[in-house]
Amino acid sequence: MDSLTTLPDFERFAEVRPGLFRCTLIWPIGGLEIPVATFLVRSNTNPHDWVLIDAGAPVHIDKLMVALAQFLDHTNDTIKYIAVTHAHLDHTAAIPLLLGKYPECKVLFHAEEKPFMCHGHSFKTCSGDTWTFTLLKRFGHDSTVVVPEDRSLTLRHGDPWEFDHILRLVETPGHTPGSSSYLHVPTRSLMVGDALMHCITSPMGQALPCISGPLAMSTCHWGDAMKAIDIILETKDDVDNVFPAHDFSKNGIPIQNIHDFHHPSSSKGGVLSWFGL
Ligand SMILES: [Zn+2]
Repeated sequence: MDSLTTLPDFERFAEVRPGLFRCTLIWPIGGLEIPVATFLVRSNTNPHDWVLIDAGAPVHIDKLMVALAQFLDHTNDTIKYIAVTHAHLDHTAAIPLLLGKYPECKVLFHAEEKPFMCHGHSFKTCSGDTWTFTLLKRFGHDSTVVVPEDRSLTLRHGDPWEFDHILRLVETPGHTPGSSSYLHVPTRSLMVGDALMHCITSPMGQALPCISGPLAMSTCHWGDAMKAIDIILETKDDVDNVFPAHDFSKNGIPIQNIHDFHHPSSSKGGVLSWFGL
């Protein structure tokens, strides 16, 4: 397991697959250091056009803007879309600054996420299906930004959009009603947001390798979140590696490892964890 500060993409964008770049930032919460990833996807028709996947937590805004400024060509490069996996605050914070910097940029997300992205709705209004969410949702992770409707683009599975030949939305609801993953078609990589996590920190502060479902306290519907893992596994003919937003590793998770995690009887080992049951 790599340490966060030695990752090649720690606080900078580095290529994890051809045309797919990741920047990992640290989110300190209660003494823990949670990795938070954002991704850049290069257009294969115009190398100056980019799609950013997710936009970090409020604490990351400055570092993310610096990482983008260092990586992108000021004169020619444009972020044309910000594809958001879901409307939690650690995936959306830099959106207002980026919409100001790139006047043509639109924010892409699943249609079911629109009330939380555009209308200020709180995930606290979700009924949930676990005691953990019911008890702790007041401490949830609502986005701190509101996206103007005229700067947004909502999609459902299969809907066409400008870059659907390289980046496709895959519906993986549960963590939030409109939680989505994005398939980078050329490299068979699936960015899943919080549908899966690949980090855990022990009480001693030592990072352990661990695939898990999303945190139950911020997961609106646990049953659907578990079905979303099945949906991720159903992409196996098109996917080699899965990249969670919270990931200590350099190369994401081989999809076979997720199968072993989700079906423990077939596991060949590793640390398995279900949060919140
Ligand atoms: Zn989340």
